[in-house]
Amino acid sequence: MKTAIITGASTGIGKAVANKLAKNGYRVLLVARSSNKLDQIVRDIKSKGGEAEYYTVDLTDELNIKGFLNEVIDNCKAGNYSGIDAILNIAGIWHDDKEVFAGKDFETFGEKVITDTYSVGFTAPSLIIHGLLPYMNKGSHIINLSGTFENGGKGWIPYYASKKALEDLTYGLADELKDQKIYVNGISPSDTATEEYTKWFPEYAKDAVSPEKIAELFLDILRSSKSGTIQVIKKYDYNDKDIEYLKMAIEMSHQSYDEGAFPAGAVIVKDGKVISKTTSTSFPKINFHPESKSIDIAINELNEQLTDCMLYASMEPCLMCLSRAYWAGIRKIVFAVKKENVPHSICYESNLNHYDLLEKFNEKIELVNIEELQEYAIVEVKAWLEKNS
Ligand SMILES: [Zn+2]
Repeated sequence: MKTAIITGASTGIGKAVANKLAKNGYRVLLVARSSNKLDQIVRDIKSKGGEAEYYTVDLTDELNIKGFLNEVIDNCKAGNYSGIDAILNIAGIWHDDKEVFAGKDFETFGEKVITDTYSVGFTAPSLIIHGLLPYMNKGSHIINLSGTFENGGKGWIPYYASKKALEDLTYGLADELKDQKIYVNGISPSDTATEEYTKWFPEYAKDAVSPEKIAELFLDILRSSKSGTIQVIKKYDYNDKDIEYLKMAIEMSHQSYDEGAFPAGAVIVKDGKVISKTTSTSFPKINFHPESKSIDIAINELNEQLTDCMLYASMEPCLMCLSRAYWAGIRKIVFAVKKENVPHSICYESNLNHYDLLEKFNEKIELVNIEELQEYAIVEVKAWLEKNS
């Protein structure tokens, strides 16, 4: 069984990563200050059949860290762990009980806040990696969580500086550990909707990245053999071009409605060029879903796998179109109307959750919802349903 050390595991991203890894067969060793919270997470994981242990460690205290490392090393030597397969440095300090350390001039920070932020954000990860390197297996991973500061470090200097230092540690170690086949990467998310973030910034929480999404990226990296990368996660996983192409797909759905067919549309784009755009066809013609039609046309047109293509669909694709896209080589689909917002019995083959199923696909296929276009697309779906049900 693979063993992963996760710091900052009692809340937020650390907790989400712990649950994700435990679910995917890792023994997770959770590190944080609060034993109450850790104990609860360990119980939850064990109740679902996972393996978890916790270590109560104050990462601002070097002696405390040393004690923790010794315990882990003893467990490795005793054969309780067959080495370490992942060190995930997630802990960081950006607030205390009373305030968020943001929008503050550097000179107004308390000295202890500065040193604690550096200790947890940079010194502790360095010492943990340093102490455990001899026990890391070939093919193991180190992932350091940094952060994306869209407006620079102003107002956040200690946190910002600790994260930038951690990124440099990541690059340096990746280079040095290449020959030992120990992979070192970073993840740099923008604002993440953790419990703490939501508490301090309720107005921004709905636009922030979910901890689960970041946990998924941790797992992706652990399954790969890339090294020396810092992966940035933005609040949105789509851009203006995606919105433009999705609008085009929705316009096809409106055209479809005007032609008396179910209002659905699809567009396939490669390198900024529209390869196919389709409406749906009235039943009972066999090839009636626009996504499937667009896929067939694009394959005929390009005469190759659609590996570099993106599929835009007005509706969340059904399982047939999803499978067809997968087999055609498409790995990212952008859509407007969520399946949960239309009657499954009429618009879909079942109410099976795609996302559970997608996780089991051999290769990752990403489904991105652009919620802001949902209204634009769903109006005619509702009108059509009213007319035809
Ligand atoms: Zn379909």
